[in-house]
Amino acid sequence: MAQRNSTQKKRIAAQARRGTLSHAWLVPGGSAGSREDLAAYIAAALICPDREAPCGSCAHCVKLAKGIHPDLIRLEKLPDKSGYVVEQVRDIVRDAYVMPNEAPRKVYLIPNAEDMNPNAQNAMLKIMEEPPARSAFILTTSNSAAILDTVRSRCTEILADGEEDGLGDEDKYARAIFDSFLRRKPADIASACTMLEKAKLEREEFDSVLESLSMLFALKIRGEQDSDARKRLFEAKEEADELLRRRLSNNTGAGHTAGALAVKLARLAK
Ligand SMILES: [Zn+2]
Repeated sequence: MAQRNSTQKKRIAAQARRGTLSHAWLVPGGSAGSREDLAAYIAAALICPDREAPCGSCAHCVKLAKGIHPDLIRLEKLPDKSGYVVEQVRDIVRDAYVMPNEAPRKVYLIPNAEDMNPNAQNAMLKIMEEPPARSAFILTTSNSAAILDTVRSRCTEILADGEEDGLGDEDKYARAIFDSFLRRKPADIASACTMLEKAKLEREEFDSVLESLSMLFALKIRGEQDSDARKRLFEAKEEADELLRRRLSNNTGAGHTAGALAVKLARLAK
Protein backbone atom coordinates (compact mmCIF):
# COMPACT_ATOMS: atom_id res chain seq x y z
CA MET A 1 0.00 0.00 0.00
CA ALA A 2 1.21 3.48 -0.79
CA GLN A 3 2.37 5.61 2.12
CA ARG A 4 -0.46 7.60 3.61
CA ASN A 5 -0.78 11.17 2.31
CA SER A 6 2.21 10.57 0.05
CA THR A 7 1.14 12.99 -2.71
CA GLN A 8 0.52 15.73 -0.18
CA LYS A 9 3.84 15.09 1.53
CA LYS A 10 5.70 15.37 -1.75
CA ARG A 11 4.12 18.73 -2.37
CA ILE A 12 4.96 19.96 1.15
CA ALA A 13 8.57 18.79 0.86
CA ALA A 14 8.88 20.62 -2.47
CA GLN A 15 7.57 23.80 -0.88
CA ALA A 16 9.98 23.40 2.03
CA ARG A 17 12.86 23.12 -0.44
CA ARG A 18 11.75 26.25 -2.23
CA GLY A 19 11.21 28.06 1.06
CA THR A 20 7.60 28.79 0.18
CA LEU A 21 5.83 26.90 2.97
CA SER A 22 2.66 28.60 4.13
CA HIS A 23 2.53 29.76 7.77
CA ALA A 24 -1.13 28.76 8.10
CA TRP A 25 -2.62 25.38 7.19
CA LEU A 26 -6.03 23.80 7.31
CA VAL A 27 -6.13 20.01 7.08
CA PRO A 28 -9.63 18.64 6.42
CA GLY A 29 -10.78 15.26 5.10
CA GLY A 30 -9.72 11.71 5.84
CA SER A 31 -9.84 10.17 9.27
CA ALA A 32 -8.57 11.72 12.50
CA GLY A 33 -5.45 9.54 12.22
CA SER A 34 -4.80 10.60 8.66
CA ARG A 35 -5.20 14.28 9.51
CA GLU A 36 -2.78 13.86 12.43
CA ASP A 37 -0.29 12.16 10.14
CA LEU A 38 -0.41 14.99 7.62
CA ALA A 39 -0.35 17.72 10.28
CA ALA A 40 2.70 16.11 11.91
CA TYR A 41 4.47 16.11 8.56
CA ILE A 42 3.69 19.78 7.95
CA ALA A 43 4.92 20.63 11.45
CA ALA A 44 8.17 18.74 10.82
CA ALA A 45 8.64 20.50 7.47
CA LEU A 46 8.21 23.84 9.22
CA ILE A 47 10.53 23.00 12.10
CA CYS A 48 13.32 20.90 10.55
CA PRO A 49 16.13 23.25 9.44
CA ASP A 50 17.57 20.75 6.94
CA ARG A 51 17.46 21.58 3.24
CA GLU A 52 15.57 18.35 2.69
CA ALA A 53 13.02 19.05 5.39
CA PRO A 54 11.64 17.11 7.08
CA CYS A 55 14.82 15.02 7.09
CA GLY A 56 13.60 12.63 9.78
CA SER A 57 17.03 12.33 11.37
CA CYS A 58 18.15 15.68 12.81
CA ALA A 59 17.74 16.51 16.52
CA HIS A 60 14.55 18.45 15.75
CA CYS A 61 12.96 15.62 13.77
CA VAL A 62 13.88 13.11 16.46
CA LYS A 63 12.30 15.21 19.19
CA LEU A 64 9.21 15.72 17.06
CA ALA A 65 8.89 11.98 16.54
CA LYS A 66 9.13 11.46 20.30
CA GLY A 67 6.55 14.19 20.90
CA ILE A 68 8.94 16.26 23.03
CA HIS A 69 9.84 19.20 20.80
CA PRO A 70 9.33 22.44 22.76
CA ASP A 71 8.45 24.45 19.66
CA LEU A 72 5.53 22.30 18.60
CA ILE A 73 2.67 23.46 20.76
CA ARG A 74 -0.45 21.39 20.61
CA LEU A 75 -3.72 22.84 21.83
CA GLU A 76 -5.65 20.48 24.11
CA LYS A 77 -9.17 20.96 25.35
CA LEU A 78 -9.53 21.73 29.04
CA PRO A 79 -10.69 18.66 30.98
CA ASP A 80 -14.21 19.91 31.64
CA LYS A 81 -14.85 21.52 28.23
CA SER A 82 -16.20 20.10 25.00
CA GLY A 83 -14.68 22.91 22.91
CA TYR A 84 -11.68 25.23 23.04
CA VAL A 85 -12.22 28.41 25.01
CA VAL A 86 -11.24 31.83 23.78
CA GLU A 87 -8.70 32.29 26.62
CA GLN A 88 -6.70 29.36 25.27
CA VAL A 89 -6.46 31.04 21.90
CA ARG A 90 -5.46 34.32 23.54
CA ASP A 91 -2.64 32.42 25.29
CA ILE A 92 -1.44 31.25 21.89
CA VAL A 93 -1.59 34.78 20.53
CA ARG A 94 0.59 36.03 23.39
CA ASP A 95 2.97 33.11 23.19
CA ALA A 96 3.45 33.46 19.43
CA TYR A 97 5.33 36.73 19.98
CA VAL A 98 7.89 34.97 22.15
CA MET A 99 10.89 33.61 20.20
CA PRO A 100 11.07 29.86 19.56
CA ASN A 101 13.15 27.80 22.00
CA GLU A 102 15.38 26.06 19.50
CA ALA A 103 13.69 25.68 16.13
CA PRO A 104 13.49 28.24 13.33
CA ARG A 105 9.76 28.48 14.06
CA LYS A 106 7.16 27.84 16.68
CA VAL A 107 4.32 25.75 15.34
CA TYR A 108 0.87 25.70 16.90
CA LEU A 109 -1.25 22.65 16.15
CA ILE A 110 -4.98 22.86 16.75
CA PRO A 111 -6.68 19.51 16.23
CA ASN A 112 -10.43 19.56 15.54
CA ALA A 113 -10.45 23.28 14.94
CA GLU A 114 -14.23 23.08 14.42
CA ASP A 115 -14.37 22.88 18.23
CA MET A 116 -13.30 26.52 18.42
CA ASN A 117 -16.42 28.64 18.69
CA PRO A 118 -16.64 31.78 16.50
CA ASN A 119 -15.14 33.92 19.32
CA ALA A 120 -12.14 31.66 19.58
CA GLN A 121 -11.82 31.51 15.79
CA ASN A 122 -11.90 35.29 15.56
CA ALA A 123 -9.13 35.53 18.15
CA MET A 124 -7.19 33.03 16.04
CA LEU A 125 -7.86 35.06 12.91
CA LYS A 126 -6.09 38.09 14.33
CA ILE A 127 -2.82 36.26 14.75
CA MET A 128 -3.17 34.55 11.37
CA GLU A 129 -3.69 37.87 9.63
CA GLU A 130 -0.42 39.24 10.87
CA PRO A 131 1.55 36.31 12.16
CA PRO A 132 4.75 36.98 14.12
CA ALA A 133 7.74 36.21 11.88
CA ARG A 134 8.69 32.93 13.51
CA SER A 135 5.31 31.32 14.02
CA ALA A 136 3.08 28.97 12.06
CA PHE A 137 -0.34 27.44 12.58
CA ILE A 138 -1.84 24.11 11.61
CA LEU A 139 -5.54 23.51 12.06
CA THR A 140 -7.13 20.12 11.41
CA THR A 141 -10.85 19.63 11.05
CA SER A 142 -13.44 16.95 10.41
CA ASN A 143 -15.89 19.63 9.32
CA SER A 144 -14.45 22.50 7.32
CA ALA A 145 -17.93 24.03 6.96
CA ALA A 146 -17.65 24.91 10.67
CA ILE A 147 -14.50 26.96 10.08
CA LEU A 148 -15.13 30.66 9.46
CA ASP A 149 -14.53 31.74 5.86
CA THR A 150 -12.24 34.49 7.13
CA VAL A 151 -10.05 31.88 8.84
CA ARG A 152 -10.11 29.54 5.85
CA SER A 153 -9.11 32.34 3.52
CA ARG A 154 -5.87 32.73 5.52
CA CYS A 155 -5.00 29.05 5.28
CA THR A 156 -3.54 26.77 2.70
CA GLU A 157 -5.94 23.83 2.66
CA ILE A 158 -4.61 20.35 2.11
CA LEU A 159 -6.92 17.37 2.10
CA ALA A 160 -5.86 14.33 4.12
CA ASP A 161 -6.22 10.86 2.59
CA GLY A 162 -9.23 8.80 3.50
CA GLU A 163 -8.96 5.20 4.60
CA GLU A 164 -9.36 3.97 1.04
CA ASP A 165 -6.06 5.60 0.01
CA GLY A 166 -4.45 5.07 -3.35
CA LEU A 167 -6.54 7.89 -4.80
CA GLY A 168 -4.68 10.74 -6.41
CA ASP A 169 -5.29 14.23 -5.07
CA GLU A 170 -7.48 15.04 -8.05
CA ASP A 171 -9.77 12.13 -7.29
CA LYS A 172 -10.06 13.09 -3.64
CA TYR A 173 -11.15 16.64 -4.38
CA ALA A 174 -13.55 15.40 -7.05
CA ARG A 175 -14.91 12.82 -4.61
CA ALA A 176 -15.44 15.44 -1.89
CA ILE A 177 -17.41 17.67 -4.28
CA PHE A 178 -19.36 14.73 -5.67
CA ASP A 179 -20.32 13.49 -2.18
CA SER A 180 -21.44 16.96 -1.14
CA PHE A 181 -23.61 17.15 -4.26
CA LEU A 182 -25.25 13.84 -3.44
CA ARG A 183 -26.02 15.10 0.08
CA ARG A 184 -27.71 18.11 -1.57
CA LYS A 185 -26.40 20.53 1.01
CA PRO A 186 -25.32 23.83 -0.62
CA ALA A 187 -23.07 24.68 2.36
CA ASP A 188 -21.20 21.38 1.93
CA ILE A 189 -20.85 21.96 -1.79
CA ALA A 190 -19.47 25.45 -1.19
CA SER A 191 -17.11 24.03 1.40
CA ALA A 192 -15.81 21.29 -0.90
CA CYS A 193 -15.31 23.76 -3.76
CA THR A 194 -13.47 26.17 -1.48
CA MET A 195 -11.22 23.31 -0.45
CA LEU A 196 -10.42 22.67 -4.09
CA GLU A 197 -9.67 26.33 -4.72
CA LYS A 198 -7.44 26.57 -1.66
CA ALA A 199 -5.51 23.45 -2.60
CA LYS A 200 -3.50 25.50 -5.10
CA LEU A 201 -3.18 22.59 -7.48
CA GLU A 202 -1.10 22.75 -10.60
CA ARG A 203 -3.12 23.65 -13.69
CA GLU A 204 -3.32 20.11 -15.06
CA GLU A 205 -4.14 18.71 -11.63
CA PHE A 206 -7.03 21.12 -11.33
CA ASP A 207 -8.28 20.15 -14.78
CA SER A 208 -8.13 16.49 -13.77
CA VAL A 209 -10.43 17.24 -10.84
CA LEU A 210 -13.07 18.44 -13.28
CA GLU A 211 -12.51 15.35 -15.42
CA SER A 212 -12.79 13.03 -12.43
CA LEU A 213 -15.90 14.84 -11.26
CA SER A 214 -17.53 14.49 -14.66
CA MET A 215 -16.71 10.79 -14.62
CA LEU A 216 -18.19 10.32 -11.15
CA PHE A 217 -21.40 11.95 -12.31
CA ALA A 218 -21.45 9.79 -15.45
CA LEU A 219 -21.02 6.58 -13.46
CA LYS A 220 -23.75 7.58 -11.05
CA ILE A 221 -26.18 8.48 -13.86
CA ARG A 222 -25.94 4.92 -15.19
CA GLY A 223 -27.05 3.32 -11.96
CA GLU A 224 -29.65 5.92 -11.03
CA GLN A 225 -33.31 4.80 -11.27
CA ASP A 226 -35.02 8.02 -10.21
CA SER A 227 -35.53 10.27 -13.23
CA ASP A 228 -35.27 13.56 -11.30
CA ALA A 229 -32.03 12.49 -9.73
CA ARG A 230 -30.74 11.35 -13.10
CA LYS A 231 -31.58 14.71 -14.65
CA ARG A 232 -29.83 16.51 -11.79
CA LEU A 233 -26.72 14.39 -12.21
CA PHE A 234 -26.75 14.88 -15.95
CA GLU A 235 -26.91 18.65 -15.61
CA ALA A 236 -24.17 18.58 -12.99
CA LYS A 237 -21.99 16.62 -15.39
CA GLU A 238 -22.72 19.16 -18.13
CA GLU A 239 -21.65 21.99 -15.83
CA ALA A 240 -18.38 20.27 -14.95
CA ASP A 241 -17.68 19.61 -18.65
CA GLU A 242 -18.53 23.18 -19.60
CA LEU A 243 -16.24 24.63 -16.92
CA LEU A 244 -13.41 22.42 -18.12
CA ARG A 245 -13.99 23.51 -21.73
CA ARG A 246 -13.89 27.14 -20.66
CA ARG A 247 -10.72 26.60 -18.69
CA LEU A 248 -9.03 25.01 -21.67
CA SER A 249 -10.18 27.67 -24.15
CA ASN A 250 -9.99 30.83 -22.03
CA ASN A 251 -7.44 29.91 -19.35
CA THR A 252 -10.06 30.57 -16.66
CA GLY A 253 -8.41 30.65 -13.24
CA ALA A 254 -8.88 28.14 -10.44
CA GLY A 255 -10.66 30.58 -8.13
CA HIS A 256 -13.17 31.59 -10.75
CA THR A 257 -13.83 28.03 -11.83
CA ALA A 258 -14.22 26.67 -8.29
CA GLY A 259 -16.57 29.55 -7.46
CA ALA A 260 -18.69 28.98 -10.55
CA LEU A 261 -18.80 25.25 -9.86
CA ALA A 262 -20.03 25.88 -6.31
CA VAL A 263 -22.81 28.19 -7.50
CA LYS A 264 -23.98 25.93 -10.31
CA LEU A 265 -23.92 22.71 -8.31
CA ALA A 266 -25.63 24.32 -5.32
CA ARG A 267 -28.43 25.49 -7.60
CA LEU A 268 -28.87 22.02 -9.09
CA ALA A 269 -28.72 20.30 -5.70
CA LYS A 270 -31.71 22.18 -4.30
ZN1 LIG B 1 15.11 17.21 10.40
